Amino acid sequence: MSWMFIYSIDHLQPGSDNFPFYTREDWGARPSTDLRPISVPVPYVVIHHTYIPGACNTTAECMLSMRSMQAFHQSMDWGDIGYHFCLGSDGSVYEGRGWRNIGIHAGRVNSISIGICLIGDWRAVTPPAAMLASTQELIAAGVKQGILSPTYKLIGHNQVMATECPGTALFNEISTWDHFEQNPTSSYEVYAYPDEQSENEIMTSCIPYVNRAGWHARPPKEVKRLTTPVPFVVIHHSFKPPACYNDEKCSQAMRIMQNYHMDERGWWDIGYNFGVGGNGKAYEGRGWTTIGAQALHFNTVSIGICLIGDWRLTLPPAEQLKTTQKLIALGVSLGYIRKDYKLIGHRQVRDTECPGDALFNEIKTWSHFSPFPHSAADLVHVKELPIAVREQLRENATKTDENVQVVQVT
Ligand SMILES: [Zn+2]
Ligand SMILES: [Zn+2]
Repeated sequence: MSWMFIYSIDHLQPGSDNFPFYTREDWGARPSTDLRPISVPVPYVVIHHTYIPGACNTTAECMLSMRSMQAFHQSMDWGDIGYHFCLGSDGSVYEGRGWRNIGIHAGRVNSISIGICLIGDWRAVTPPAAMLASTQELIAAGVKQGILSPTYKLIGHNQVMATECPGTALFNEISTWDHFEQNPTSSYEVYAYPDEQSENEIMTSCIPYVNRAGWHARPPKEVKRLTTPVPFVVIHHSFKPPACYNDEKCSQAMRIMQNYHMDERGWWDIGYNFGVGGNGKAYEGRGWTTIGAQALHFNTVSIGICLIGDWRLTLPPAEQLKTTQKLIALGVSLGYIRKDYKLIGHRQVRDTECPGDALFNEIKTWSHFSPFPHSAADLVHVKELPIAVREQLRENATKTDENVQVVQVT
């Protein structure tokens, strides 16, 4: 009853005749048990996709998706569906938490943002025009009603958390819209709420995250899909560039590595799947779903994480280590890394001092550290490697022996 009261008093129509609007009552929402008023004007709009459930094309389908998302989010003790509004493929808008309450959709940004979710998987396909038009109308209505700041910043979920939400295609679309903010992680407000509970719709730990746009990455020359979940995580140090301790330097370090890998080595992109800076932020390199160029023979079975800096003699800052561990945990919870993954240092698969003695000794104490393989010579016995690779390695090893013999003879 109390919710009926709150929603009947506080419920605001989006203020537009330009799209069909369905209230909570319309889609059969259960009562919310999380009614924390959001302070207005709200400075951010965060765009999401659902990935699952998939796109809905009829009102009945979309209402079912709303109910299933609400049930799922309530099962995680969020009290209500996480988002403020959701949209169906035909451009209909479904009321989630509405304009007045704090949502649970984007970790630290929850208390300063309105979360709008475009129902569907928009990684490869751009949402239909009607859906995009209604999203823009809805945002305009929020501004008109004084809920959204006239100078609001529009961002994708992936700009504040390590997720691929809202999908590459949708993200590319919104990055052309007015108010799109290229680098929200550099702005004060995003990190002004360190105590905000770390929650989003995929219930992961919240880590400070900078996507490719955030560090001004060049586009990759080519992209090859990584088969996930991977069985290994490979830890690197950068050696050069040296450690970075602020946003500017860490973004710069990512660009230096990318330029070096693309221009000097001729690779398609920065080699690592992720970088982690001394500022405690994780940086998207090739990401979760693209094969890296970081550990010869191991790229197809691992995610490579580079802790920016030279960690031969000293340990990375605690925040850098913590973020690395959270990033791995996130990869597991997102299903990109196997639950029984093995953690190794680069030197265990290649003749290199990477990731430096100090960092290597540190990761030896982490759970999932695997002493096997011990060195590149063990690779032929790594069962997770494709058979073709192992056979090739075996052949090369034999060839090397022959060469050695030849050398000895002459
Ligand atoms: Zn999202
Ligand atoms: Zn390395």
